[in-house]
Amino acid sequence: MVLEKIYPAAEEWVFVDGEFDLPQKLLKEIRGFVKRNSLGAVAYRIENKEPVSYCCQRCLKAHLSKKVKRMNLDKNVMKKLTVLLDCESGHGGYYVDGVRLVRV
Ligand SMILES: [Zn+2]
Repeated sequence: MVLEKIYPAAEEWVFVDGEFDLPQKLLKEIRGFVKRNSLGAVAYRIENKEPVSYCCQRCLKAHLSKKVKRMNLDKNVMKKLTVLLDCESGHGGYYVDGVRLVRV
């Protein structure tokens, strides 16, 4: 199981599919966030033709940082996310989730 990232047009986008040895509840959170904040499809799955979406990497990182703390997950989880999401967290202390502007 692999969590991959690609950079279709800019280094700001992240593509999430599969797993990177992360807790199931966090993967569910990632999928939900990407779905809510999709900026478009970068590919389609061969097996079911469902779109594979991407979202802002910085917003995703900020959102997951909060979730990791709230879920009381192991510190290694955040280290893995820091490797996967090699960017700043949020934008000037905030991130976007759907229609909400959230403080980091
Ligand atoms: Zn963002």
